[in-house]
Amino acid sequence: MVDLTACPICDAHDHAPFAQKDALSVVTCRGCGFVFLAPLPQPGDSTALYDDAYAGTTEGYFAKVDKKMRRSRGRARRLRKLATGTAPRLLDVGASGGFMVQAAREVGFAPQGIELDPKSVAYARAQYPGNDFFHGTVEAYLAAHPDAAQGFDIIYCAEVIEHVPDVNAFVAAIAQAMKPSGRLYLTTPDIGHWRRPKNIAQWDAFDPPAHCLYFDRASLTRLLAKHGLRILRRDLALKPGLKVLVGKA
Ligand SMILES: [Zn+2]
Repeated sequence: MVDLTACPICDAHDHAPFAQKDALSVVTCRGCGFVFLAPLPQPGDSTALYDDAYAGTTEGYFAKVDKKMRRSRGRARRLRKLATGTAPRLLDVGASGGFMVQAAREVGFAPQGIELDPKSVAYARAQYPGNDFFHGTVEAYLAAHPDAAQGFDIIYCAEVIEHVPDVNAFVAAIAQAMKPSGRLYLTTPDIGHWRRPKNIAQWDAFDPPAHCLYFDRASLTRLLAKHGLRILRRDLALKPGLKVLVGKA
């Protein structure tokens, strides 16, 4: 069971108010400074887990498919340079409409998508039928495919981790899926970014309960370290976001 009021980074229960949205309390951990929604959503709470960017607005979101494919293709080409051999395996955790999985296939990866939102899975399967999209969590995927452990060269996880109530189980599963020499490319909003609006209510990424975790570089580093992972490189982000390349410690 997840303790829904404990800090996911340091397990402390002592926190100070950070911000309120309606009846939801976002707090700062007095132990480590991490900002999170307390209590956290129950794991499995769909309003928190599905990406708010397309929940209920699927058609409008996927209308930007050309832009999404361009960005995915650029990232897929850069990630391909990090992997050796023919058909390295890429796991997209939170595959959305399947853009990155398709882009990864085009540059020579053997890709696998994982996505929780049923509408997105249906879209991805219809648009990119040559690929496999698992409907469920990364933990459920590994339970169903024990041979996938330590099997992936590259794991791609973009704008997902801030949604995940049981983030320790999530990161542990990602670490389990990675080859010892594997790489994780992770992006998430950055509450410590110099361009984050001072008034938190004006920040588009301040969005509880969908976004229940608010990382900065220090808290993300600390969370990853708990699971034997470390940041190898941080990419410049002009918007308030963290974009990091991660390897096993
Ligand atoms: Zn803490």
